[in-house]
Amino acid sequence: MTEEQDHGRRTAAHGSRIDAYVDRYAARATGMVASEIRALFAVASRPEVVSLAGGMPYVTALPLDAVGEIVADLVAHRGTVALQYGSAQGDLHLREHICEVMREEGIDAGPDDVVVTVGSQQALDLITRVFIDPGDVVLAEGPSYVGALGTFAAYQASVVHVAMDDEGLDPAALAETIDTLSRQGRRIKFLYTVPTFQNPAGVTLSAPRRRQVLEICRRAGVLVVEDNPYGLLGFDGEPMRALRADDADGVVYLGSFSKTLAPGFRVGWALAPHAVRDKLVLALESAVLSHSTFTQLTVGQYLATQPWREQIKHFRELYRERRDTLLGAMEALMPPGCVWTRPAGGFFVWVTLPDGLDAKAILPRAVAERVAFVPGTGFFADGSGRRNMRLSYCYPEPERIREGVRRLAGVIQQEVVMRDTFGTGSAPAHAGVDTPGPDLA
Ligand code: PMP
Repeated sequence: MTEEQDHGRRTAAHGSRIDAYVDRYAARATGMVASEIRALFAVASRPEVVSLAGGMPYVTALPLDAVGEIVADLVAHRGTVALQYGSAQGDLHLREHICEVMREEGIDAGPDDVVVTVGSQQALDLITRVFIDPGDVVLAEGPSYVGALGTFAAYQASVVHVAMDDEGLDPAALAETIDTLSRQGRRIKFLYTVPTFQNPAGVTLSAPRRRQVLEICRRAGVLVVEDNPYGLLGFDGEPMRALRADDADGVVYLGSFSKTLAPGFRVGWALAPHAVRDKLVLALESAVLSHSTFTQLTVGQYLATQPWREQIKHFRELYRERRDTLLGAMEALMPPGCVWTRPAGGFFVWVTLPDGLDAKAILPRAVAERVAFVPGTGFFADGSGRRNMRLSYCYPEPERIREGVRRLAGVIQQEVVMRDTFGTGSAPAHAGVDTPGPDLA
């Protein structure tokens, strides 16, 4: 039974007037469904469970006292501005700082081109709202960010995945997919990509491929939406040059302070060519009138007064240690036949299980053994990813990560034994897109 049918049955039993209304949902609401695995994650958030599932930044490492002083000072001295409506495009001072942040990735842009949004998630929503009619094609890496897939589904886009490997999106596959779709007369509205430290795969598009991807999209007239919340969280060397740095007209860039500062501020942004920027501002206005002036001014003051580059360096070191811990433990403990990516930044490792194993079917057993992950199917719009799981190392302390991998490796090993004995592992769960919710995204 689907969630909607179940809901219908329960309300019918109560004979509620609401029955008449829920039948009248817009067609797009059918694309908005809660995950079947969400209930499991309620259990997974218990302290005894090591969660390698969540994508939550380690905000404990923030200078909370300094943030507290900024907030107090803001209310005391600029309260009437901070607590008032603001412009739909966002606070100018903050937009200037955003341009400074983007310069770290080679982007040369002015504040006039920036729209401040409620996290980059809202930027994704607005860009989709502006570009997508039902049935329009969005190209996306396979796997792709679950929150973006949820947005595309809500606007009834048709997501076509493009293969990727350890160097990111495969340019040959991209060119071929565009070709095939064009021959079929399908309308490709944009390529959605997370080129750097991808969520969920952890891989990064190499420099030569960046040039190829831009060239292919330019020739085919396909807009690129570059979603880059992890770009400054690399573990080695200088930040990667953003796609937007080499194509100001063909790329809409999405950024966020969620991973480099804190997601609770809900401050992200879109950098877009003028015409698109204007539409984004109008779309934002109709969605929320204006973003919170209070959090925008807080983030602006943080950037103006705090050593934010040092703070990001601190995050990088912290996450690098956790990445090393996770990879080291996996190397030592994972059963033969498992393979995984080796991220050079960001939060995530993408695991492929031995043949015949189903990650979603394994999840309940893993949670019973007090370890959680996100099954791979949530990161595809087409039901792929059964043999995959996403592991995150951003939140648990290193000791917990080691313990989590020990438990997980034990569960996978038992599955391998079951497969070898009975010809199959745990019963496969039924298909469906997972939307694990914000703390897991
Ligand atoms: N894009 C990607 C690739 C993400 O991983 C996330 C958060 N998990 C977001 C966008 C949304 O982040 P926020 O809205 O907090 O900026």
